[in-house]
Amino acid sequence: VAKRLEGKTVVITGASSGIGRSTAFEFARTAPKNLKLVLTARRIDTLKQIAADIVAEVGEGVKVLPVQLDVSNPEEVKTFVGKLPEEFRDINVLVNNAGLVKGLARAPEIAEEDINIMFNTNVTGLINMTQAILPIFKKRPEGGAGDIINVGSIAGREPYPGGSIYCATKAAVRSFTDALRKELIATRIRVMEIDPGQVETEFSVVRFYGDKAKADAVYAGCEPLTPDDIAEVVVFVAGRRENVVIADTLIFPSHQA
Ligand code: NDP
Repeated sequence: VAKRLEGKTVVITGASSGIGRSTAFEFARTAPKNLKLVLTARRIDTLKQIAADIVAEVGEGVKVLPVQLDVSNPEEVKTFVGKLPEEFRDINVLVNNAGLVKGLARAPEIAEEDINIMFNTNVTGLINMTQAILPIFKKRPEGGAGDIINVGSIAGREPYPGGSIYCATKAAVRSFTDALRKELIATRIRVMEIDPGQVETEFSVVRFYGDKAKADAVYAGCEPLTPDDIAEVVVFVAGRRENVVIADTLIFPSHQA
């Protein structure tokens, strides 16, 4: 796996915490030679710290570039690739991980602002990032090469009361991912999705507008997955032989089945 990932440039959205942060570490630990990591999120100071921590752990064989990027801002996404230093522009892997849930409420009560934030981040942001990076993949021989790994959710398959909007965003991610994979058939561009169940991250705290007590209650009596559990799968699918497409992965803790 290390050999296959060697020399690759990997872009991760939502790399400042949770699954994205763990995925950055996992790529670096797995392929510590000549890997280039572009870590993006809104919290740039956190990204800078993560970049320093990665280099401190695995050494300077991995080049890490922290970039402030709000995926829900189409202008920022459009100019993202052009602003990267030349050596980070030949992107091989895009991990579309940035996402959030705001306001778990019954559909009639959910605030318009929260609906827009969820769709603009989880769906439009992911699509815009994909469109920004696909031209780089398509320039490669035989119809193109590169990996798009979308982080969906079990919520996209099994909608639940109070989660209608979030679930709808993740169902949209699934449809987009499936259609794109079919559009790119017979190229070496792999379009893959990983759908986690419960994972302990900041996600749950964001969900309850920072109310940690409420967030903790979600996991009462359960043992959620850790972000590393998901990160390992992301790196696994990216590290397969080019002809192997692990298109769709559902991963949840045993209590959730
Ligand atoms: P976290 O809240 O820990 O991480 C979310 C990441 O997304 C942060 O790095 C945050 O960074 C980033 N982000 C949020 N909004 C934006 C934005 N507009 N632009 C750029 N980055 C943004 O949660 P997780 O790690 O759990 O979530 C990662 C993904 O996993 C999400 O897509 C989520 O839907 C999915 N997921 C999570 C599950 C869970 O139980 N935790 C279950 C199933 C799926 P910043 O605030 O710095 O911008």
